[in-house]
Amino acid sequence: MTAPILITGCGFAGCTAARELADAGHHVHIIDKRPHIAGNAFDEPDAHGVLVHRYGPHIFHTNSERVWQYLSRFTEWRPYEHRVLGVVDGKRYPFPINRDTLNQLYGLDLDEAGATAFFERVREPREPVRSSEDVVLNSVGRDLYEKFFLNYTRKQWGVEPSQLKAGVAARIPVRTNTDDRYFTDTFQAMPLHGYTKMFERMLAHPNITVELGVDFADVRQRGGWGHVVYTGPIDAYFGHCHGPLPYRSLRFEHEHLAGTAQYQPTGTVNYPNDHAYTRITEFKHLTGQQHAGTSIVREYPQAEGDPYYPIPSDENEALFKRYQELADVEPGVTFVGRLAEYRYYNMDQVVGAALAAAQKLLERLA
Ligand code: FAD
Ligand code: UDP
Repeated sequence: MTAPILITGCGFAGCTAARELADAGHHVHIIDKRPHIAGNAFDEPDAHGVLVHRYGPHIFHTNSERVWQYLSRFTEWRPYEHRVLGVVDGKRYPFPINRDTLNQLYGLDLDEAGATAFFERVREPREPVRSSEDVVLNSVGRDLYEKFFLNYTRKQWGVEPSQLKAGVAARIPVRTNTDDRYFTDTFQAMPLHGYTKMFERMLAHPNITVELGVDFADVRQRGGWGHVVYTGPIDAYFGHCHGPLPYRSLRFEHEHLAGTAQYQPTGTVNYPNDHAYTRITEFKHLTGQQHAGTSIVREYPQAEGDPYYPIPSDENEALFKRYQELADVEPGVTFVGRLAEYRYYNMDQVVGAALAAAQKLLERLA
């Protein structure tokens, strides 16, 4: 029997690795400094009985059959396709920008070829496309950039779109058809009984013990660990020896509206130009829950607080690489997840990365 493996972080990265290692016969002790499992995907009924996501809206979508099948071992699903509206000058428009957005915004009647020609006319070709500003100007031009992207991005990240890598804005497609779904992935669904229930089932294994409300540094000191899987911020692991890696944080303002059955027509409404918050999400759209009232959350970006987003810029990635060099030679530790790899991963990508990391570790431990 090998010594137990210590896993830090009960989010997607930690719980996927824990389950894989436990299924292969290893004993796993998984910890989190928070008082709950599920990491940033944690959901719970609020004081009024509406299921809410404490750390902002989490919508599951993937093109990976493998990830879909894997999570399907631990949950049934509720089919759900997310839709978003963006508010410009007090009016709501389909977002991502599609043909209806153009027609409604500019009072046009474009067909698909007309929308293609429109974008061709207004776009500002950029070569090479390096920044998020390049991505948007190159595809939809300045007016749409200023209406939908510029101020949202400034608010969300605290920097200019020209300072952010192309991949940030490239998450948002531009469409000449009238598809108004936020995602077009093959699999789009929400865990039928919520994320936390799914995580409970992932961790329900005789080889797994869970300890909450404890810090990695304290638990590690107890010693006797066969290996460590670390999913927290990589700079914190190394005592910020190269200086702090910037992460973007958020403040979540949750509100229950008693007696309001529906607050807004879609799951999320984005406010690129107004307010200090970026978007409002109404959870009942996501979960399908029936309730006489409704619960919403507003997201206020901020620099300080829990690290939620790595900030993809050339400078930050260079700093991350210095930490990665340390990680590569750190004996007996696997680094995986959004904070440990400093990558703007979606949930499904974290599961994929954790499955691969667990496989690699199992080969090493065999
Ligand atoms: P986390 O979930 O952050 O888990 C890491 C855990 O490690 C945390 O619980 C933390 O408390 C713990 N930890 C850290 N340091 C220590 C320590 N020293 N000791 C003990 N414990 C420690 N993805 C999607 O696919 N769809 C979405 O709609 C979506 N929406 C999002 C909305 C918001 C507002 C945010 C912030 C993210 C969203 N994501 C979404 C991304 C998703 O949250 C992440 O991809 C995923 O949760 C990352 O999982 P993880 O396990 O890497 O990290
Ligand atoms: N974005 C924007 N306007 C919007 C929505 C998104 O400018 O109305 C930009 C912004 O930079 C944002 C990025 O596109 O950070 C990615 O958006 P996404 O909705 O994928 O962000 P997440 O859900 O990860 O916060």
